[in-house]
Amino acid sequence: MADTTLTDVKKRFESDGNDVVAVDELSLDIEDGEFLVLVGPSGCGKSTTLRLIAGLETISDGEIKIGDDVVNDVKPKDRDIAMVFQNYALYPQRTVRGNMSFGLKMSTDLPDEKITERVEDAAELLSITDLLDRRPKALSGGQQQRVALGRAIVRDPELFLMDEPLSNLDAKLRTQMRTELQELHQQLGAATVYVTHDQTEAMTMGDRIAVLDDGQLQQIGTPMECYYEPANQFVAGFIGSPSMNFIEGVFVDGLIHLDLFRYPLTDEQRAAIESEDSNSVTVGIRPEDIELTDEDGPRTVEMDVNVVEPMGSMNLLHLERSGVEITASVTGEHIVDESDCVRVRFPADRIHAFDRQTGAAVF
Ligand code: ATP
Repeated sequence: MADTTLTDVKKRFESDGNDVVAVDELSLDIEDGEFLVLVGPSGCGKSTTLRLIAGLETISDGEIKIGDDVVNDVKPKDRDIAMVFQNYALYPQRTVRGNMSFGLKMSTDLPDEKITERVEDAAELLSITDLLDRRPKALSGGQQQRVALGRAIVRDPELFLMDEPLSNLDAKLRTQMRTELQELHQQLGAATVYVTHDQTEAMTMGDRIAVLDDGQLQQIGTPMECYYEPANQFVAGFIGSPSMNFIEGVFVDGLIHLDLFRYPLTDEQRAAIESEDSNSVTVGIRPEDIELTDEDGPRTVEMDVNVVEPMGSMNLLHLERSGVEITASVTGEHIVDESDCVRVRFPADRIHAFDRQTGAAVF
C-alpha cells in the first residue's frame, strides 16, 4: 500500500451561528504499514480527523490523498478503508456471521463462497469461530469488540481507522486487547490510524504518535521522541504519567533563577537559551527523573515532604519549598515519611526548558 497524506486539512463546523475550527491546517503522512496513534485531550479534533480520512465528513480546505489519488470527493465506500468505532455499532438482529459479512455483501460483488471464507478466516484470527451464530446481545463487551474488528478485517482494506475502540472495556481486558490489536496489526500489515485520549495507550501501541491540541498538530514522532524530546510544553505535560513538573524561572548569567534554587546550565543549554529573544522560561522535570541524594551539590535542593503516595514498586512524593510544589517518583527502597525533609537533584541531562511566551522547547 502507498502512504496516506493529509495536507493543510481544515474542518470548520458551524453551530448556532458560531464557527468551530475542529481541525486546523493539519498535515500528516501516514506511512505504509505503520500504526499511527492520534492522541490529545477531549475536543482536540481526533475523531473529526479520522472521520475526514474516512470521508464521513467533508473537508473545508486542504487535501487528503490515499496513495496517488486525491480522495476529497470520493465516497466513504470507495476509499478502501475500514473503520472500527468505540460503540462497536453492531446490528442487533444479525448474527456475528451476518454482522461480519453484511458490509462485504453490500459493497462488493464477491461471490458468497469467498465472503464465507473471509468471514471464517477473520473469525479464526480473532478466536471467535464458536460465536459465529450468536447475536450481539449474547456476547460480552470484549467479544463484541472482536466482532467489530472482524467486520473491518474481512474488508481487507488499505487502511484501518479506529476510534477509541477499547474505551468500553474494563482495564484488564483493555490491556489484553491492546496486545491483541498490535499482534493483529503485525499479521495484517495494513496501516492503522488509532484514536485515543489515553497517553499510556498511545505510548504503548503507536509506532508513531501524533499529538493534537485545539485542532493543531503539536508533534509527530515515535513515543520515545515525544517523551524525551517534547516539541513544546503541551506535549511535555501531556505525554508521561505522572505529568512533568513545571517551574517558572528567569535566565541570568548562566543560571536559571527559580523560586526553589538557582540552577546552573551546561554550555549547550546556555547557548540554546541565549539564542532566545526572552530570558523568561518554564523549566520542566519529570517526576521519575528527580533523584534523592545526600550530597549537598549543585542542582540539588532540600524540600519538605507533604504527602507520600505508595504506587506499588514506586512511591510518589509530593514536595514543597518556597511556594513551589512538585512531584517526585522514587523506588520503594527509599524510606521516606510525611513531614521528612529530603534533598533532591534535578540531573542536568534530564531538565527541559520552554519559552514562557510560546511554550516551544528551548532544550
Ligand atoms: P473526544 O476525545 O471528546 O471524542 P475529539 O478530540 O475526538 O474529542 P472532535 O469530536 O473531533 O474531538 O471535536 C473537535 C471539535 O469540533 C470540538 O470542539 C467539537 O465540539 C467540534 N465538533 C465536532 N463535531 C461537530 C459537529 N458536527 N458540529 C459542530 N461542532 C462539532
